[in-house]
Amino acid sequence: MHRHDTIAAIASPVGTGGIGIVRLSGSTAKKVLQSLFLPFSPIFTDFKPWTLHRGRVIDVSGNVLDDALAVFMPGPRTFTGEDVAEIHCHGGMALLGVLLDSILALGARLAEAGEFSYRAFLNGRMDLTQAEAVAELVSAPGKEGVLLAAAKLEGVLARRVGALRAKLEDLRMRVCVAVDFPEEDVECLSPPAFLQGLEDIAQAVRELLAGYARNRCWQEGALIVLAGRVNVGKSSLMNALLGRERALVTAWAGTTRDFLEERILLDGLPVRLVDTAGLRESTDEVEQLGIAASRRCVDAADLILLVLDGHEGCTREDRALLEELPPARVLPVWNKSDLTRPDAASWQDFPGQESMVCTSAKTGEGLDALSAAVRRHILGRHGGEGSVGPEGLHLNLRQAGALSRALDQVNACARDVQGGLPYDICALHLDTAGVALADLTGRDSSDEILERIFSTFCIGK
Ligand code: GDP
Repeated sequence: MHRHDTIAAIASPVGTGGIGIVRLSGSTAKKVLQSLFLPFSPIFTDFKPWTLHRGRVIDVSGNVLDDALAVFMPGPRTFTGEDVAEIHCHGGMALLGVLLDSILALGARLAEAGEFSYRAFLNGRMDLTQAEAVAELVSAPGKEGVLLAAAKLEGVLARRVGALRAKLEDLRMRVCVAVDFPEEDVECLSPPAFLQGLEDIAQAVRELLAGYARNRCWQEGALIVLAGRVNVGKSSLMNALLGRERALVTAWAGTTRDFLEERILLDGLPVRLVDTAGLRESTDEVEQLGIAASRRCVDAADLILLVLDGHEGCTREDRALLEELPPARVLPVWNKSDLTRPDAASWQDFPGQESMVCTSAKTGEGLDALSAAVRRHILGRHGGEGSVGPEGLHLNLRQAGALSRALDQVNACARDVQGGLPYDICALHLDTAGVALADLTGRDSSDEILERIFSTFCIGK
């Protein structure tokens, strides 16, 4: 990415819509706008900053393309920190394409993925956590995800990390004083005081990490796996849930998948629903591969719906399967309840039967209860219900990783202090912890790392 030229991109989604937006950022943004936009107002002399003007957009040959609105925003108080211009015209892909071609013909360059946000970051308009929040806000699968991303965009995480860094710096400074002026006993840092300082920092990091698993569900969706014998109704159940719940069509940050994965909201909770190939032993080589992949999926699952055929009753295979699964993450589902009503006696000693949900993939009976049970189960394991307020924070994998590295270093430092190691040796861990925290906000990250992060954004962002 070159950082001084003018970039342009279609900022609205691919497809047709009422309005489509082309965005420009860079020193020639205004010049390009002046060449393509003919204001209607007879008293127009120049673009009034931050004001929408109405007029015609033309291509480089002077053909009128559309009736549009245009705005010019002078830097540095813009999203990117540079001069920014936007043209809001009708949302047709061909129209936007022709307009963009004209802009490029006038010397602008097509923006790379995430380049607008990258420039905002480079120009100090936002830190890395806020830039990532833009991507998370756009791909949030539900309301809670939006609230979490919005809080991060507001700088909640950046401020918490800033406070942590300040605490760390403060402790580092006190260690320096203790190392450099050992003979002065004014305010010399005693090992218990050093340990207390470390514990305060560790506690603050742990608090930030605590919400990770819970909020990950809101942002990325909980992984729910359907498991069970053949013909118990797993696929039917999946289709029944998909048929009635609103399937998510938004771009939703996901992982590589071996399976058919469907993304839906179950009782408002974003969920990645996966139907496994089966978990039975098999001598068939291809089937074995499928089984191994299913097991990996089960290992990663937030919740496993063990589907049982209520009509056939509880078989030896059901019990064998249940024994292989982690009990805390299993929810038994009695399917085909339209054929046979639950018969408590035959399932009495079936582990987890007290939370069993009865469903009929055929009639739809019990599907609401199943959705509610999934939500209860997932949120219950991560601290219970409760809305996500402005203080709620969602860490992405990268941010959680950086915090965990910082925590490891703080803990290692505490062990060294307890082991009586010289303070200057102990303090090396504090320096490394500081680097991990700086990575979190991207302040000292290398260009290569930053470019990798921003390239996962979409074009126009
Ligand atoms: P899977 O192998 O576990 O994915 O099972 P399927 O979804 O393919 O279903 C196996 C058979 O059971 C099919 O003939 C379905 O129509 C039937 N089936 C699935 N769910 C129900 C249900 O709730 N009630 C009834 N009566 N039949 C069902």
